[in-house]
Amino acid sequence: MKNERKIFSLYIDPYHPNVHLREPIAEDDYVFAANSNYLIKIAKSALEDTYEVNEEAPSIKDFFPARSDSRTVKLSELKALIDKLPILEYDLCEECDGSGTVMWEYYHWKKDFDCPKCKGSGYGYEAIYPKPDYRKTVNISGLFFKGEHVKVLIETLKLMSLDKVTMCFDSNKQFEQLVHFYLNDVTKVLIPSLYDEDK
Ligand SMILES: [Zn+2]
Repeated sequence: MKNERKIFSLYIDPYHPNVHLREPIAEDDYVFAANSNYLIKIAKSALEDTYEVNEEAPSIKDFFPARSDSRTVKLSELKALIDKLPILEYDLCEECDGSGTVMWEYYHWKKDFDCPKCKGSGYGYEAIYPKPDYRKTVNISGLFFKGEHVKVLIETLKLMSLDKVTMCFDSNKQFEQLVHFYLNDVTKVLIPSLYDEDK
């Protein structure tokens, strides 16, 4: 499949503490790439490279329970949702979450001090700003997804030269379900829907 390594790299974390989540893994007729939040599976028959089986990795194939409802979502629709995310003018410091202070502890004494990472400014400097706040949620057919996860789905569609995806879900459940995105006959992505934290 064109761009298959690039596609898998969107889903794995090479530094993840769990070694099974650092590279794509073959299981039965599929190759899976997963992190703690979302995963992709692609049929081996569609892939050019070969991928290792990892006997010690937990099975992933059972993560795909049946879903009753489906809807086609266009790439343009996903992009429009991302465009509506609030814009972050600057990065927040990851260490102190933008507060500028962290709690220091010495025996039973505790005190707030300037954060050593951002030196008390609360700003982070890891990316170029302004940019959309991908931590916020977007609403697709009444289900809420983290902007960051939708961004990965958009990038996957682009790498596969697709302009739409079929979303399968359980409409009786408003949040906290694994939603299936069928990209084509051999490729499926799972993304959790979340409670809408922004409301
Ligand atoms: Zn800080």
